[in-house]
Amino acid sequence: QREITVDASSEEHAEKIVSAVREIPNVKILKVSDRTFDLHRKGKITINSRIPLKSQAELAMAYTPGVGRICKAIHRDRQEVFNLTIKQNTVAVVTDGSAVLGLGNLGPEAALPVMEGKAMLFKEFADIDAFPICLATQDTEEIIQTVKRIAPVFGGVNLEDISAPRCFEIEKRLRQELDIPVFHDDQHGTAIVSLAALINALKLVQKPLEGVRIVINGAGAAGIAIAALLRSAGATTIWLCDSQGIVSLSRTDLNAQKREFAVKAEGSLADAMRGADIFLGVSAPGVVTPEMVKSMAKDPIVFAMANPIPEIQPELVMDHVAVMATGRSDYPNQINNVLAFPGIFRGALDCHAKTITEHMYLEAAKAIASLVSSSQLDPEHIIPSVFDPRVSSAVAGAVQLAARQDGVAVE
Ligand code: NAP
Ligand code: MG
Repeated sequence: QREITVDASSEEHAEKIVSAVREIPNVKILKVSDRTFDLHRKGKITINSRIPLKSQAELAMAYTPGVGRICKAIHRDRQEVFNLTIKQNTVAVVTDGSAVLGLGNLGPEAALPVMEGKAMLFKEFADIDAFPICLATQDTEEIIQTVKRIAPVFGGVNLEDISAPRCFEIEKRLRQELDIPVFHDDQHGTAIVSLAALINALKLVQKPLEGVRIVINGAGAAGIAIAALLRSAGATTIWLCDSQGIVSLSRTDLNAQKREFAVKAEGSLADAMRGADIFLGVSAPGVVTPEMVKSMAKDPIVFAMANPIPEIQPELVMDHVAVMATGRSDYPNQINNVLAFPGIFRGALDCHAKTITEHMYLEAAKAIASLVSSSQLDPEHIIPSVFDPRVSSAVAGAVQLAARQDGVAVE
């Protein structure tokens, strides 16, 4: 009996391998297992105590009666909760399961493995204790009220995988009504990392952000946030597109967020891309053709970030673009939110920021971009690796400084 390990690229591939092995004479398959499933058997995270609990004396301090004095101290001065409890380093990762990865509305239970994974990333990249909170409601008001009621425990709230346009209202209201940072990662994490990559891509083609025409395809959580951040960063000409084409002033089907970015131009995505300097895709697989890319201005920049399958496969247009990026790890220039959110929260928690400002986003993007030195910068290296150990602390430092400048830091 022998155990062998085979790397399959997909479930279909695995089935092919298994049936091929079945054909081999004198070989009997006793058990087939999947490493990814094995890894998930007990969930991916756990809670540990920080202090020993081995003696009567320790027990009397950690729990009653000693803990009672701590309770009274916090009751006297509520701000002490940041010094004497887990609140100082704990973030709620909140979802309603309505837009899980690119998989759709899978509900709260099916979202849990993703939120556990997110908690792992918080721990690994920023030493933050993040807790997955999957809510059994998809009602905007119920989500808002629930998050408000659990907020005392947390130093920050990371909203995750909540579908557009509800996510805009939920985030806006929670920002107004809570005194801890609230950050919808699918919006702003994506926007920050996209801007970081764009800052460096523009250096390569020597075009100023103020002078370029940018097409953003996808006007959902990511697309709207990218448009807003690029505008704050100085971009002047942004054409947003959705499944119906250019988000133009003449359309009557636009929600409030799309209307904010509506332009005079009308037409299809292909019309928008003709002569554009930059294409940013946060939409759907395969919606861009090589012809569309070839119709762009000289030295086009193309970020095809739809996951897992980009708007256009890089190999189809590599020879026609100046810089290409995707959301994937198997191509150069991976636009991945993990470059932003751990450092954002690290910085915000370290100064007890009451909120996260647009200025903090901008400084985070600049900090990420600055980690690629001018000698390292080339079309296949516009963004640091997700495993670059400098990223989270560089982002945290920039975010903290911006928070102090904006007057939102308490410490
Ligand atoms: P979302 O809120 O559901 O928004 C999707 C948007 O794409 C909608 O505005 C939709 O148009 C538009 N769309 C769908 N099909 C389209 C088509 N054929 N042509 C043009 N637009 C189309 O989703 P999201 O959270 O913003 O994410 C969108 C995509 O970006 C996903 O593939 C996601 O994986 C990817 N993404 C990647 C990264 C990354 O790489 N770092 C980060 C975030 C998101 P309507 O408004 O007309 O329905
Ligand atoms: Mg997400």
